[in-house]
Amino acid sequence: MKIVFLGTAGWHPSDAGNRTPCVHIPDYNVIFDAGTGLANPEYLKKMKEDPKGIHLFLSHTHIDHVSGMPALRIYLPKEIPSVTIYAPEEQLINVAGIFGEGYPFNEDQVNGLSIVKAPGDAKALRHVDIPRAKVFSQTFSHIEDGSPVAGYKLISDDSRKALVYLVDVAPTKSGPTQEVIDFVKTPSIEKLALICDCYSMAGHRMTIRDKVGGEFISTPYSSPLTVSELIKRAGVNQAWLIHPSAQLKRIKFDDMLLEVKKRVGDSIQVSMPKDGEEVEF
Ligand SMILES: [Zn+2]
Repeated sequence: MKIVFLGTAGWHPSDAGNRTPCVHIPDYNVIFDAGTGLANPEYLKKMKEDPKGIHLFLSHTHIDHVSGMPALRIYLPKEIPSVTIYAPEEQLINVAGIFGEGYPFNEDQVNGLSIVKAPGDAKALRHVDIPRAKVFSQTFSHIEDGSPVAGYKLISDDSRKALVYLVDVAPTKSGPTQEVIDFVKTPSIEKLALICDCYSMAGHRMTIRDKVGGEFISTPYSSPLTVSELIKRAGVNQAWLIHPSAQLKRIKFDDMLLEVKKRVGDSIQVSMPKDGEEVEF
């Protein structure tokens, strides 16, 4: 399965990359998140060479995860038969707000646009069937404001490979929550891969307001410690770390990567892809 990292940056461009999260799995025409990585005219235009219905899975509707969507209106080839957008139920209203009436698609451009709720709302593990794969989802809390964030897991229909996309999900002080570990874990699969955020190296707690005008609270961000715990405890074989803090300099990413590698051991492949990087899984 080919994985294309169209956008790998966090909430705003940094040395990590200039484009915010968007990951395309061409074999299944699945796209995870629609950050500015999706605003890639050349890439979108090329999709007409192999036109398939697109399944766009949004983790949540913060601007860094949806701001590339208008590019679909302008650059998506009309040969694409349909676009289905999945998002956590509580965030659907934001998606509709972003789209407005008919936006970003002209009616003659896409035959069917559906916006549906992510299959795993209400914390139940459910799935949607897409051609040759299943996608499971579950809703967790956002790293900063506690709003719902969907994690997604794509399982190939030969049940040999699973790819989990889990970005901006709140870890606890010492690591991932048990429900996150249980979601990622996939027994009976031959190879398990994970795409997740690794926000900062040190001081992985940050003081923010719990709501606009609200109390200041101390919240943990993902870090080499929490990410390594997840990789080890869920039995992940391969991981790609994206969405680092915009404050970090590129040189720090190498430190972060080294730290994760040290914690998980040599048998697990971990890397930090750059914008536009294509990998084979
Ligand atoms: Zn984000």
